[in-house]
Amino acid sequence: MTRVLTVDAACAAAHAAAPAVAASDLPTRAAWLEAMADALDAARDDLVPIAVEESRLGVDRLTGEVGRMTGQLRLMAQVVREGSFLGLVLDQALPDATPPRPDLRRMNVPLGPVAVFSASNFPFAFATIGGDTAASLAAGCPAVVKPNPGHPRLADAVMAIGQDALAAAGAPAGMLTMVSHDLQAGIDLVVDDRIEAVAFTGSQRGGLALARLAAERPRPIPFFGELGSVNPVFVTADAARERGAAIAEGWVASFTLGAGQFCTKPGLLVAPRDESLRAAAQSAAQGVGGQGMLTEAIRETYLRGLSERLESTGVEVLAGGGWDAATDTVTPTLVSVSIDAVLADPALLEECFGPTSILVEYTDEKQMLDLAEALPGLLSAGVHGQGGESIIAELLPRLVAHAGRVLWNGWPTGVAVTWSMHHGGPFPATTAAATTSVGAAAVNRFLRPVTWQGMPQEILPVPLRDGNPWGVPRRVDGVLEI
Ligand code: NAP
Repeated sequence: MTRVLTVDAACAAAHAAAPAVAASDLPTRAAWLEAMADALDAARDDLVPIAVEESRLGVDRLTGEVGRMTGQLRLMAQVVREGSFLGLVLDQALPDATPPRPDLRRMNVPLGPVAVFSASNFPFAFATIGGDTAASLAAGCPAVVKPNPGHPRLADAVMAIGQDALAAAGAPAGMLTMVSHDLQAGIDLVVDDRIEAVAFTGSQRGGLALARLAAERPRPIPFFGELGSVNPVFVTADAARERGAAIAEGWVASFTLGAGQFCTKPGLLVAPRDESLRAAAQSAAQGVGGQGMLTEAIRETYLRGLSERLESTGVEVLAGGGWDAATDTVTPTLVSVSIDAVLADPALLEECFGPTSILVEYTDEKQMLDLAEALPGLLSAGVHGQGGESIIAELLPRLVAHAGRVLWNGWPTGVAVTWSMHHGGPFPATTAAATTSVGAAAVNRFLRPVTWQGMPQEILPVPLRDGNPWGVPRRVDGVLEI
């Protein structure tokens, strides 16, 4: 039996469940997340074949992604138990001060039901019970999922396992629901007055359309759109000289991973004009075989973007790929261009979602700084260097000004799910630069602070009462108590 509900039924259930979810104590809420993680791990071998069929991503990749999905749920369970996300701050009353200070106690409270939009390229980790759902439930907010049309059967199977695990663990019905994968269902969800926030992972076009709807509601709500970016990687002259060929090979492996269908794909390698680096990149790209793309719509968008890119002035094709209709696969397209040509056509700095990347060549290292100044908002930016180059001190602040994650001698495609991870960045990487969709801090998106003033102990929320009844980190009169 399908778990799909009408938007009205899903929102009604989420709205009804919200007070009980918000009121749950931390160990109980953490146990709900862990119950889902255990059940999804146990069903891995049933889920992966459905995902393979619907996404064309390989068994190994999808098996690993189940682990990432359940790892996210377990990290969020840890975040919930640890409790600092509650943001407890207490200032005791100072009746003799001038003016007298009342007793003030602040705590973060859940926003209420969150609409979660799944992306096509992570059928587990950024989908039905992916990072946004885990963060929403951890915050104490029911989640209403809009599945991606790329994997509707998988969404149903994952939802059934999650909902059954929650029910068996005693969680309130309506804490996790799902609507149809139709475009209209997503639109109706965002404008439903019972939804209090939206978490979206997907394209810039889709994200902006839905962000507008959220902002134009009679009662606008926060919209957290995690979009894509060009994720440039800069190579210093010294690094190119020392290990240009290895860097080129690492870059090709990273931008062709999963047929280039990663929001963190390195879409630009900014390197000195160097024949050996060029030749190594060319040969590595030519060695990558045909890869299936996620959906026909994504393939069409990719091929359209690619042909626009190839028409830009000064673009030289180093490895020409494209689509093979007989096998329905694409092979990588690698192009090169000068920094001046990129600066003249900023469209080259936009994401092209698929297996293509641009080698941006410079003749004077200082030119890198001009390009770094002109970058749009980014999820990530990287530097390959030897460590002693003076240009690095000038380059890094420019990258920090544009990117949510700055990497040294690495590739951006892997995003670790940890306490310190930031996966976000200024627009167009996201619609909310102050937040992350990956890592422990992702929970903060679905909370808002409230201060209780002059409230007697017995009617204060339990974690704000004297004696720290929940034993969680608090700041009291400016001093952190762990
Ligand atoms: P997408 O086409 O934007 O779809 C995402 C979701 O939004 C789908 O459920 C889609 O449903 C819905 N949607 C899109 N446009 C809509 C509109 N105008 N009105 C209502 N609903 C709409 O994105 P995708 O192809 O699944 O994913 C690829 C993109 O996601 C890439 O750009 C990639 O960089 C980005 N991404 C970002 C992250 C991140 O963490 N930053 C992670 C993964 C992927 P319909 O298809 O029914 O419209």
